[in-house]
Amino acid sequence: MRQLIFFLFIIQSYSLVLAQKTIDTVDTPLGRLLIFENRTWSLMNESSFNGVLNERIHSFVSKNKPAFIQTWNNEVCYTGKNNDLSKLNDTIWLCLNEEESNDFSIPVKGVVTSHYGYRSGRYHNGIDLALKIGDTVYAAFSGKIRYAKYNDGGFGNLVIIRHNNGLETFYAHLSKHLVVPNQDVKSGDPIGLGGITGRSFGPHLHFEVRFYDGPINPEEIIDFTKKTLKKENLFVHKGLFVPGIKPSEFYEVNEEDEKVEKVEKVEPKPNVVKVPEKKIEKVEPKPKPKPVVKVKTEEKKYYTVKSGDSLSEIAARNKTTVSKLCELNGIKPSTKIQIGKSLRIR
Ligand SMILES: [Zn+2]
Repeated sequence: MRQLIFFLFIIQSYSLVLAQKTIDTVDTPLGRLLIFENRTWSLMNESSFNGVLNERIHSFVSKNKPAFIQTWNNEVCYTGKNNDLSKLNDTIWLCLNEEESNDFSIPVKGVVTSHYGYRSGRYHNGIDLALKIGDTVYAAFSGKIRYAKYNDGGFGNLVIIRHNNGLETFYAHLSKHLVVPNQDVKSGDPIGLGGITGRSFGPHLHFEVRFYDGPINPEEIIDFTKKTLKKENLFVHKGLFVPGIKPSEFYEVNEEDEKVEKVEKVEPKPNVVKVPEKKIEKVEPKPKPKPVVKVKTEEKKYYTVKSGDSLSEIAARNKTTVSKLCELNGIKPSTKIQIGKSLRIR
């Protein structure tokens, strides 16, 4: 019953959003621009909050054909699974930072260990930043916590913040959350501690910037060397998004895949746009090269360690052996396995 009421509430608030009066637009060589007033953070404290922080932007984006959906849901990473932002008709002008408020903080100070983009037949939808387990992770911009829990799709402990300009930022593989869903945060507030949860083979922060679920290269807006914003405004247009890829088809790439890249050439799928490939590192010729076991990415299977699990139990349950598990994960039979850690089982 409660779900039904919630559903009706969503429908009602959504139709209210769609009924908003027309916003100001201006035609420019870049396309049609949306001009909106300075951010009104008071919106977030309204009792009638419906999950849309900037109704003008929302109204504008959802009127696009096809319409793009964004709802408020604390249980799922993506709230508009069918959104394909490469079909966005207009150019939307988003304010990233108002001069006076300086609303940006670098999430962690570590160096970039993996960039955004296409590799090994998959997309890396964010950027990886080095950290030590337990390092504090900070909110990049002010906003409201949409999601803060363990995600078994590979992100591990994940925090998602929705910002007033319609962007969302993702902070993955955390060891601990310091925030709860629906909480307001200011840029620079601690939101979690760095970790290695989910599909992560070393401590790092996987950081994403998304607009209506479509990932944007974080380096489009942030200079991770100078730890500053690159621009005050972002023009969101279809060129920022990979054509035909929907949120559910995006993948996290882990370090293991990157190692595989060095020895195994994967042909790009024909239906995806070719992004310039990273140069494959030269491998020093060895006198007797070990035979490389080719493992197709699709066949890999992972298991998230739960309380009370032992290696032998996990092995038995997944019809494999302890030594095979150790080999796949680079561990010893005596290694203590952490709860929440993702183990490769195939
Ligand atoms: Zn990553």
